[in-house]
Amino acid sequence: AEMLTVELTKKWMELFYDEIDKNKAYLSELDTPIGDGDHGNNMKRGVTGVKEGLAKLKEPDLKATLQAIAMALISKVGGASGPLYGTAFLEMAKKCNETQKPEELFTVALEGIKKRGGAKEGDKTMVDVWAPIVKTFSDGSFSKEEIKKAVESTKDMEARKGRASYLGERSIGHLDPGAMSSGYLFETFIDAGGT
Ligand code: ADP
Ligand code: MG
Ligand code: MG
Repeated sequence: AEMLTVELTKKWMELFYDEIDKNKAYLSELDTPIGDGDHGNNMKRGVTGVKEGLAKLKEPDLKATLQAIAMALISKVGGASGPLYGTAFLEMAKKCNETQKPEELFTVALEGIKKRGGAKEGDKTMVDVWAPIVKTFSDGSFSKEEIKKAVESTKDMEARKGRASYLGERSIGHLDPGAMSSGYLFETFIDAGGT
């Protein structure tokens, strides 16, 4: 697999910005029946902050790049998803001097998300994309198809974390917005040249 580099990370964040921008209304639409309808706007603020944060860095190394992404997401997203995405990138920043293998960096990112948010697989959150996707690296099946499957899997789940959990059974039948945005994160990683 391709190692994570500053160049790849920057390209990835450019494509993630474009994807969030394009799907902002859709993400907020997903967040309407089972949340407060702001996920698209939250993420757009986040990726705008990421773009600004990265533009300010002068010849950054990978660690500084990942830290800047984390800080922007934590400070700009606003919703519950912000600190979770931020934690994911902070954990990658902490680990990246030791390894630049995406699967190892995504593994520590997932651990951070789980620790911070307390969600397990099956709770209908972004963890339901991160967890199966991290696993696909070990059998070489990481692909857009697997990403789509993981996002889709949240539809039939009952939410046990976050705002959607207030709805109980009524959360069933809707895709989780944070799972969808995490799907975009992994898809754009592939488009940026990460495999
Ligand atoms: P808010 O709910 O504060 O408005 P967002 O709309 O930006 O925040 O994000 C909602 C998404 O955050 C959910 O769809 C879910 O994927 C994710 N999320 C919420 N709480 C948790 C949690 N405890 N663990 C993992 N993911 C969570
Ligand atoms: Mg919301
Ligand atoms: Mg909100």
